[in-house]
Amino acid sequence: MSVLYGGIEAGGTKFVCAVGTGPDDLHAEVKIPTTTPGETLALAIDFFKEQADLAAVGIATFGPVDLDPGSSTYGFITRTPKPDWSNTDLAGTVRRALDIPVAFDTDVNGAALGENRWGAAKGLDTFIYLTIGTGIGGGGMSGGRLLHGMIHPEMGHIRIPHDWERDPFPGVCPYHGDCLEGLATGPALEERWGRHSETLSPEHQAWDLEAHYLALALVNFIFTLSPQRIVMGGGVMEQRHLFPLIRQKVLELLNEYVQAPEVLDDIEGYIVPPGLGNRSGVLGAIALAQSL
Ligand code: ZN
Repeated sequence: MSVLYGGIEAGGTKFVCAVGTGPDDLHAEVKIPTTTPGETLALAIDFFKEQADLAAVGIATFGPVDLDPGSSTYGFITRTPKPDWSNTDLAGTVRRALDIPVAFDTDVNGAALGENRWGAAKGLDTFIYLTIGTGIGGGGMSGGRLLHGMIHPEMGHIRIPHDWERDPFPGVCPYHGDCLEGLATGPALEERWGRHSETLSPEHQAWDLEAHYLALALVNFIFTLSPQRIVMGGGVMEQRHLFPLIRQKVLELLNEYVQAPEVLDDIEGYIVPPGLGNRSGVLGAIALAQSL
């Protein structure tokens, strides 16, 4: 029997837990609502205890998180606006309950690793994975290593030009108002246009503005990190008509300054949806466990 791994995609609304070795070999999976840390983690731990012996568990989680292995709060969700979840010892609680090694990273780095192993970023060593949903976040690799740093990148909170005449909406970020997340996240769309983004038709003016903001962010990331590809997932990006709009605007904003065939000759292959669909996160968590 092959060695099995557990993965937890810890999200703000649900925890997806799975056991297996990859996309073609998942043995069990469960979705647990994110209520309180005590309740949600107890259910996740019960699920893994019911499974055959696991070699390790990977956790890819919402944050902010402490990723410094030398820190006394390593593996914690630190300060989050999500009620009850600030200072939650996620990795330690799981490790103590299951008595196996636990790998720990951000949800977007987890998804990036999953996409690198099995999905749209296979064979690349420098790329980013962005999620555009209830929040906006970015992870990825540079030179074959997952992006970490002082804490971890917070690509969703970059500042982008905001034309108040075209878009008087002040933004929804509790910390910055009109940062990228404040202007372009799912809740921003809903608040600006007065209805859920899923109910806005593809012709609605919302999408041109949304693509404009996302393209501004992408060119900043392209200039800063020089990714070989950009993978865009999350609930908002399930509106697939956004992709051609974003690609066109990125080309216009770059204005042929970046002389790379990836961008100039194959923009359709450069800005892409996840190869693993909405499974990047949980599969990435399993990949994290395998990388220990
Ligand atoms: Zn912000």
